[in-house]
Amino acid sequence: MPDLENTVIIGSGCAGWTAAIYAARANLNPLVVTGAMPGGLLTTTSLVENYPGFPEGVDGNRLMESLRKQAERFGARTRFGSVVEAVKFAASPIELTVDGKPVFTKTAIVAVGAGHRHLGLESEAKLDTKGVTYCATCDGPLPVFRNKPLVVVGGGDSACEEAMYLTRFGSVVHLIHRRDQLRASKIMAERTLAHPKIRPVWDSVVQDILDVKKDAVTGVVVRHVKTQAVTEIPCAGVFIAIGHEPNTRIFKGQLDMNENGYLKVRSPTTRTNAPGVFACGDCVDSIYRQAITAAGSGCAAAMDAERDLAAQG
Ligand code: NAP
Repeated sequence: MPDLENTVIIGSGCAGWTAAIYAARANLNPLVVTGAMPGGLLTTTSLVENYPGFPEGVDGNRLMESLRKQAERFGARTRFGSVVEAVKFAASPIELTVDGKPVFTKTAIVAVGAGHRHLGLESEAKLDTKGVTYCATCDGPLPVFRNKPLVVVGGGDSACEEAMYLTRFGSVVHLIHRRDQLRASKIMAERTLAHPKIRPVWDSVVQDILDVKKDAVTGVVVRHVKTQAVTEIPCAGVFIAIGHEPNTRIFKGQLDMNENGYLKVRSPTTRTNAPGVFACGDCVDSIYRQAITAAGSGCAAAMDAERDLAAQG
């Protein structure tokens, strides 16, 4: 049987690495299983301007590298690989399978994050980070969007929040929604629609994203779902806010989650329904979804795991 770990951290975004820093400093010698995208979603953002401590902003990759180095300095071990199957959280010790190999541990911290839901267009993938983005808070203030027409896709609270935020930067914000009524909460919907810079585009879907200038968004092609009429809207940025999908599918049946797949924890702790298993970051949080809130919950998860280990004796 392989060595018994104290704690295995599943995921290597802000939550995972922060949990690793705290667990390592508590002498738990944690093992971090990175997942398919080491560093998580933040590595896809060029400049992170809202992470405290970096007055000039910090490159997403650099920030994650710094967190990794900080965790490793205190003894965290990194295993590049994914927990993709056969998770036995109910077993004692907990059993995980990392790329086909078993790993046994007394505690586990689930920090698998969430992915942005995508439209699924070829042009969306091609222009990702070249005007197509999934985070107004991260990218909205970038100079390329200043005083330019912008597009937000979606009709939920996220889309409304993004659109409102972008009114600070864009000359106008087109809010493209596939129905004629927003899904967002009433107060948010009313506030959004009342904003003079926000122009709703109802019953419409984005059919294509244009880059006439090559490698920079110049507009979107929109199709009206009732009349099938196709129009073009010039814009410098397309902010897609059609929801998130937590990366929790492999834990179904083992960890309690809500109907959208977000893991349930016994708030204010990070404890899940499975003994010795803690969860933090974007796979738990459907509201804030910021690097700094993920980091904070990663810290809490490590402290919860440490207490659990002390109780296990
Ligand atoms: P959401 O509520 O699931 O809304 C997603 C929106 O995107 C919907 O309007 C949906 O259209 C649209 N959509 C989904 N797939 C699409 C596609 N393929 N093409 C075009 N449009 C598509 O997601 P969310 O706005 O991210 O919110 C998630 C949760 O977080 C909600 O519970 C929300 O209340 C909460 N939240 C709260 C706050 C806050 O309180 N400040 C802020 C953000 C989020 P349909 O309406 O037609 O389904």
